[in-house]
Amino acid sequence: MNMKEYINEAEAALLHTYNRYPIVWDRGDGMYLYDIEGKKYLDFVSGIGVFALGYNNQAYNDALKAQIDKVIHTSNYYYNIPAIDAAKKLKKVSGMDRVFFTNSGAEAVEGAIKAARKYAFLRDGHTDHEIIAMQHSFHGRTMGALSVTGNPHYREAFEPLIGNIRFADFNDFDSVKAQVTDKTCAIIMETVQGEGGIYPATEDFLRQIRALCDEKDILLILDEIQCGMGRTGFMYAWQRFGVKPDIMTSAKAVGCGVPVGVFLMTERVAQNSLTSGDHGTTYGGNPLACAAISKVMDLFDELKILENVQESGAYLYEKLEYFAQKQQGITAHRGIGLLQGLEFDKPVGEIINKAVDKGLLLINAGTNVIRFIPPLIVTKNEVDAMMEILESCIYTA
Ligand SMILES: *Cc1c(COP(=O)(O)O)cnc(C)c1O
Repeated sequence: MNMKEYINEAEAALLHTYNRYPIVWDRGDGMYLYDIEGKKYLDFVSGIGVFALGYNNQAYNDALKAQIDKVIHTSNYYYNIPAIDAAKKLKKVSGMDRVFFTNSGAEAVEGAIKAARKYAFLRDGHTDHEIIAMQHSFHGRTMGALSVTGNPHYREAFEPLIGNIRFADFNDFDSVKAQVTDKTCAIIMETVQGEGGIYPATEDFLRQIRALCDEKDILLILDEIQCGMGRTGFMYAWQRFGVKPDIMTSAKAVGCGVPVGVFLMTERVAQNSLTSGDHGTTYGGNPLACAAISKVMDLFDELKILENVQESGAYLYEKLEYFAQKQQGITAHRGIGLLQGLEFDKPVGEIINKAVDKGLLLINAGTNVIRFIPPLIVTKNEVDAMMEILESCIYTA
């Protein structure tokens, strides 16, 4: 079958919840993806922040193959060594104390919400607690995660969602304070807002939130699903300012392609929230998924991923900043490390389509923002190659 025929079959069989680009992938290698007609694409999307190590990393593939030949799945009613290894490594890089493995980011957010509610329930003995979330946030598509997602368009048709959620403005401490009541049990936010348009939390905002949480015994939940795992040049974005959450979520690049997520918490929260029977998952933390996480952690060290993000991220920043200054129609440049955005004075769909035609994958973050979220192995040469194509798309757009 040719590409068009595959696409027709896909559109006849799959639920239409995505407007897909007309590409059918065959394989990937490093920074590049190849479609079934052999066309090569430079990838600045990385499956939306998933494929941190680039495609077809041999050591990663071999680790998965070795685990497949041992055992793929057992049950959370038993122990498995990959899960123990993965949990230890996650604790070490995050400084958190306890780990719960999930199958996706949204499920990690669900777990974090449950842990926060249980913590407040054990403390107060009542169940009407509130959570403060941010406008323009994104936490996933399940009902709980959607409840704290600050995008009415995503939520509206599915109401009623879980109740007692109040929204505040990101990077505006007074607006958060105004939503605090004696029922507030948690504040949830992304350390860098991703889908909402690439907005890093300011140091002041994070510090003020942390102090407020400490004063009122409110739990701070940081969603690091997109901005974590080295993407900002720090293993977790909050480490840039040392403002530690009580509960943290991570996913996307944690498994580098194997569907996994995780929520982590401090010992204090762990001792005073979820306990036997409170939460579970069939697949979460299975040996195959955890073999992936464990290998990803090792490869982050071996390939010096954080150093590369700092170097390539700074280079990307410089290039985009220069471009933003000289190019009409660009209204802002934001971001950190390898999570950056260029905001335009009009929708960016047309520019992205042109780039795709020319063999460069880009993705938006909201209507007017192009998001740059490449594999974390990207080098200056590939940044240059990306810039060249981008510029050619904008001059003709
Ligand atoms: C992608 C994302 C999620 C949801 O993760 P899924 O694996 O798609 O469920 C949640 N929070 C943030 C910040 C994300 O970027």
